[in-house]
Amino acid sequence: MAGGRDKDIKPATRLVTGGRSGDFAGSVVNPPVWRASTHLYADCAALRNGVKSNEDGRFFYGRRGAPTQWALSEALTELEPGAQGTVLYPSGLAALVGALMAVLKAGDVLLVADNAYDPTRNTAMGILKRFGVEHRFFDPLDHAAYAAAFCERTKAVMLEVPGSLTMEVCDLPALARIARDRGAVSLVDNTWATALGFAALEHGCDIVITALTKHVGGHSDLMMGAASAGEQWYRRLRMAAQQLGHVVSPDDASLALRGLRTMGVRLEKETASALAIAEWLAAREDVAHVLCPMLPGSPGHDLWCRDFTGGCGLFSFVLKGRDDAARCRLIDALELFGIGYSWGGFESLALPFDVEPVRSCMQWPKAGWGVEDRHAVRLSIGLEDTDDLIADLECGFAAMNEG
Ligand SMILES: *Cc1c(COP(=O)(O)O)cnc(C)c1O
Repeated sequence: MAGGRDKDIKPATRLVTGGRSGDFAGSVVNPPVWRASTHLYADCAALRNGVKSNEDGRFFYGRRGAPTQWALSEALTELEPGAQGTVLYPSGLAALVGALMAVLKAGDVLLVADNAYDPTRNTAMGILKRFGVEHRFFDPLDHAAYAAAFCERTKAVMLEVPGSLTMEVCDLPALARIARDRGAVSLVDNTWATALGFAALEHGCDIVITALTKHVGGHSDLMMGAASAGEQWYRRLRMAAQQLGHVVSPDDASLALRGLRTMGVRLEKETASALAIAEWLAAREDVAHVLCPMLPGSPGHDLWCRDFTGGCGLFSFVLKGRDDAARCRLIDALELFGIGYSWGGFESLALPFDVEPVRSCMQWPKAGWGVEDRHAVRLSIGLEDTDDLIADLECGFAAMNEG
C-alpha cells in the first residue's frame, strides 16, 4: 500500500484494501482466480533461477500458490499486527497441525490447554504422539499448575481463547510470557475473535492460527486455515507447509478474500445480536449459566474487556437442572437455527454439547455450580433479525418445558 499513511490505517480499512495491489489484481477490483499447476518459464536459465529462489510472490509451481492465494495471505498478514507472513492451509485443523509440526520434534513435550478445540487434543493424543511428541493437558486458568507443568523438554504451548465450547478467557499475555521465559513457543487458536478482535502476536504469542472456515469465509461454503507469525516462526511455518505439501485452491482463496471484505460488519452485527440474546437468556429461570465473555458479569468478561477489541456471535449456555431429552426438545423445536458443526456463517446454528469427554483436568460442572446444571447448548448467532431469533428460542424453550 502506498505512502506514509499506511501505518495509521485502521483494521476496517485494511479489510477492504488488503491484498489488492496491482501485482495481484491488475486493473480489476478483485484478484482473478489463477488456476494453475504448471508455471511456464521463458528458457532453461529462468527455470534454474526459479528453483533457486523460494520467495513469496514468485511463480515456481502450483504448490507454492499463485496471485490469488498470495493476495489472501498478504491481506491476512496486513490485518495481523506483528505478523511477517501468513501460510494458508486446506482447513483450520490442517493449520493447527501444520504449525505444531513446524515447531516440534520427537522427544519434545507439548502443553495443551485443556479447553482447546477437541480435534487439537486428538492431534496431540494421536499423530503427534505417534511421532514421538509427548503432551500434557493443563488448566489455563490455573497459572501455578501451568508453570509447574513445564519441564526441560517442553518446547511448545497450544492455547485457545476463549476456550472451545465452555468459553473461558485465560490471561493469554501472562501464559505466553511464562512460555517465553521457559524457552517454549506459544501458539494460539484465535478463530473466535480473529485479528480484528484480538491481536495475538502483540499480546505475546509467537504463532496465531485461524480457521478461515469460520468468520473469514463467513458463508458456510469453504474450508481453510491460516497461521501467521513474525519473521522467525513464519519461515519455519512456511518450510513445514512446503514439506507437508499444503496448498489451497485459488477458487477457495477467492471466496475467502470475498468473505474477508465484509467480515468487520458481519462480526459487529453478530456481536451485538449475540449480546442481546445472551442477556435475554441470562434473565431466564430455566438457564443456569450463560458462557459469553462479552456479557457483563459472565466468566472471563474482565479479561475480555482488557485484551479484546471485538467479539463474535458464538457463545454457550447451560440449562438449569434439565436432562438431555429436554435439551433436545429445545433444539429440535428451533426453526431459524440450524443444527450442525462449524460456526461463523451468516446463518444461525445451535449445537448440544457435553464437556466431560473432551476435558482431562478442568472441572465440569464448574466449581460452585449445581451438579444437575451440566447440559449445555452452543449458539452461533448469524445475521438474522435479533428479535426473530429470540422469538425462535422462546418457542424452543416452550417445547422444552412442555415435555
Ligand atoms: C472449526 C475450528 C477449527 C478447525 O477449522 P476447520 O476448518 O473446521 O478444520 C479450529 N479451531 C477452532 C476453535 C474451531 O472452531
